[in-house]
Amino acid sequence: MLHASCHCGTVRLEIARKPRTLTECNCSICGRLGARWAYYTRTAVRVRCPDGATQAYSYGRKTYEYYHCKVCGCVTHYARINVKRNDKVAVNARMMDPDDVAAIPVRRLDVRRRTRGRAEPPAAPDRGGP
Ligand SMILES: [Zn+2]
Repeated sequence: MLHASCHCGTVRLEIARKPRTLTECNCSICGRLGARWAYYTRTAVRVRCPDGATQAYSYGRKTYEYYHCKVCGCVTHYARINVKRNDKVAVNARMMDPDDVAAIPVRRLDVRRRTRGRAEPPAAPDRGGP
């Protein structure tokens, strides 16, 4: 079991296992957040927080929602709004203990170059994680 939490501890995530890789992306939102994403199946992640503790942010085509703690502002995870089968949830590994993820390789996605500035985050991979 791996844990992640926002700065103030209001939003806690319980994660079934360590990720095999982490993903950094330079799209309009990931670049601003400085996030490192770890992708999981939805059943592998449990979000523990009081009702109403998170705020979801969505933009553009409204494909994804980025959740942040209303108290401290940390973005803890994002997920597709209209859930499809085998959908993934992306956990911000910056919310994990750095020692827990220090040895995990980081994949860098150059979305900005690939999409010529279009503002979409990377799609979570369909199977097995990146
Ligand atoms: Zn918080």
